[in-house]
Amino acid sequence: MDDKIICIGCGAILQSTCPEEAGYIPASRLKNVQDGEDNDVYCQRCFRLRHYNEIMPVDTNNDDFLALLNSMAEKKALIVNVVDLFDFTNSLLSSITRFIGNNDFILVGNKFDLFPQNLRQSKIKDWMRQEANRVGLFPKKIFLVSAKKQKNLEKLISYLDIESRNQDVYFVGMTNVGKSTLLNAIIDQMGDIQDLITTSRFPGTTLDKIEIPLENGHLLVDTPGIMTENQLATHLSAKELAIISPQKPLKPATYQLKPGNTLFLAGLGRIDFLKGEPASFTVYAARELYIHRTKTEKADEFYSKHVGELLSPPSNEDKLPELKGKKFHTSSKSDLLFGGIGFVTVPNDCLVKVYTPSQIGLGIRRALI
Ligand code: GDP
Repeated sequence: MDDKIICIGCGAILQSTCPEEAGYIPASRLKNVQDGEDNDVYCQRCFRLRHYNEIMPVDTNNDDFLALLNSMAEKKALIVNVVDLFDFTNSLLSSITRFIGNNDFILVGNKFDLFPQNLRQSKIKDWMRQEANRVGLFPKKIFLVSAKKQKNLEKLISYLDIESRNQDVYFVGMTNVGKSTLLNAIIDQMGDIQDLITTSRFPGTTLDKIEIPLENGHLLVDTPGIMTENQLATHLSAKELAIISPQKPLKPATYQLKPGNTLFLAGLGRIDFLKGEPASFTVYAARELYIHRTKTEKADEFYSKHVGELLSPPSNEDKLPELKGKKFHTSSKSDLLFGGIGFVTVPNDCLVKVYTPSQIGLGIRRALI
């Protein structure tokens, strides 16, 4: 018998010896396949991708996605926008405003575990509410959770428990905000859900959804993750993404800067200090992220010489748009936001120029800390 059976997802030859390599499936499953008991098999990676709904991220302008939103608007439902607290502005789905109709809408801010521990939750929620209101979203509730560490989930779960008694609950979110991790954590903590995942289509679209039947007869519905060019995650390889994504609570690192100084956040961010008193700039980002201070007059040359090497990520293979800057004059102690990477706290009355690739994820807020 020909033992070269391939995964119907990626085409890799199925194997059960090396979990890290392409085509891996557990030995028992491989045996079933070889014995002809299983046909049409996905390797473990493709299987997970399908089940975690990452296989078909959709574009926000995608017609199918708009049809999906329409289908949500037509029924009574609770809409839950899961957002990444470290890429908040990008993960806020401003496009859904007109589809919410009379439905309730809530925000779940994920990756809360990364914030320094002494931070008041109310400050974060105030900022989220302001930003949401600015784009026309009026969340009825805001929850801060850590899906990965399974923290702060109780309040969210009891809220969903009550709200799902007379309606289905739709989870929507950009890719990489942690929506799959969150749903898995919810399922895990709710406990009494069995045989939960069924994949089917949203009527009138080619998009898959995952339905989680609740005991009360209603559903939690996972919708496909949405992608935009406005996320660093869309542009970086998995390896680079792992370097910029903080794993532990952010520890501040302080740099003394004078006007005429520039700070690089690896090759993905840059701050030129243009005017102000000499000051401390405090970086909140992954510990692995390389930070470099230099003179602004030398910064362009330094960047073009070292990007992809000393200033990495990005790697030389990544095709990122060029760094593009925007000036800010702080009128209070402020956080300069680098979506997907972290933030840098700067004092009042500083004139700075802040750069990210094509201004992706760039922003400012009143300092949280
Ligand atoms: P999805 O695309 O929205 O379904 O996102 P995933 O659930 O696949 O998660 C995206 C990335 O975020 C993964 O690397 C996760 O490990 C990470 N992640 C998810 N939830 C959390 C969290 O609560 N805290 C932290 N620090 N990382 C998280």
